Amino acid sequence: MFKEADIRPNNREELWKEQQKDREWLFTRRDQWVTRFCPVCRQSHLSGMQTPCWIKFGFLYFKCTNCGCAYMSPCPSEELLAEFYKISKNAEYWNEEIYPNTKNARIENIELPRIGMMYNAVHSFYNTGECPSLHQGTLLEVGAGYGLFGEVIKKHINSNSMFKSYEALDPYKAENYKVTLEQFDYLENSIDVIVAFEVIEHIFDPCKFLEICGKLLKPDGLIILTCPNVEGFDIALLGDLSDTVDHEHINYFTIDSFNWLCDKRIDKRLGLKVREVTTPGQLDVELVQKKVKEVPVVRLHVNKNPLLKQILHDEKRAGNFQTFLRENNMSSSMMVVIQKEE
Ligand SMILES: [Zn+2]
Repeated sequence: MFKEADIRPNNREELWKEQQKDREWLFTRRDQWVTRFCPVCRQSHLSGMQTPCWIKFGFLYFKCTNCGCAYMSPCPSEELLAEFYKISKNAEYWNEEIYPNTKNARIENIELPRIGMMYNAVHSFYNTGECPSLHQGTLLEVGAGYGLFGEVIKKHINSNSMFKSYEALDPYKAENYKVTLEQFDYLENSIDVIVAFEVIEHIFDPCKFLEICGKLLKPDGLIILTCPNVEGFDIALLGDLSDTVDHEHINYFTIDSFNWLCDKRIDKRLGLKVREVTTPGQLDVELVQKKVKEVPVVRLHVNKNPLLKQILHDEKRAGNFQTFLRENNMSSSMMVVIQKEE
């Protein structure tokens, strides 16, 4: 099992400073923030079903009691967010400092497992029963960021492999792929698999995002995405003290959110169906243990609870408990497989 320190810096001060610059940039543009409906079920804040749940760094988040998700509102408008990610100091710091310095650990602990999960999903759901299930298809990554997934996957591409081509989009990264999903010049029904890792929690309108993905997909094609699970252990326990709650994450889904979106919100003609939701996360327990050390109020809360105390203060139990969370869809890190029905 890998540790958080393998993939993120131990010293957060520099990162914090850059993030603070980003937050200040957003706050000086408060006139471009908008009130949002629930991004999953679209209940309005006037419905009585939206309860304020967190205030962090001056941003306000609501919990939707209708569908269970949480979201930021008011929130920078879609246009402001697009502008924001182009100048983000946080993104610059990750691209110049964190990714280059954690590259090998990230490939081993994040990108290779993602590729494994993607191959498993394709084998399980794409043309079920036929083998090989997918041959020489087209893979699209949305929100490719620093590009590590692409770097690895390109080595797997040859004239005999599952994919013959890999396309990547990231509007905020210079050079190669500076377009948004909306501007992406590709034919409808032309992509076999779309992956979007840790993207949809940043997106102003996740329903629209999935609809565009649905149009690009071939019948039987798959969308594979990862995002935080708001009901998972570390977010459920720590609330706004979880590092996952931040100004860039404007949507916090539950494991049911994607069923809701596919069955009740997304254009039925696209035929998108959730095939699988899992929580393969490995860091919940470690993240909570760190907060117990760092934050007195968390330490107090945990030490008052005999069960939590026994789990978190014993490394063997802690490891077994992380396995339990993973196996019971209770980790805060979730993976969703959506398929376009034929
Ligand atoms: Zn809702």
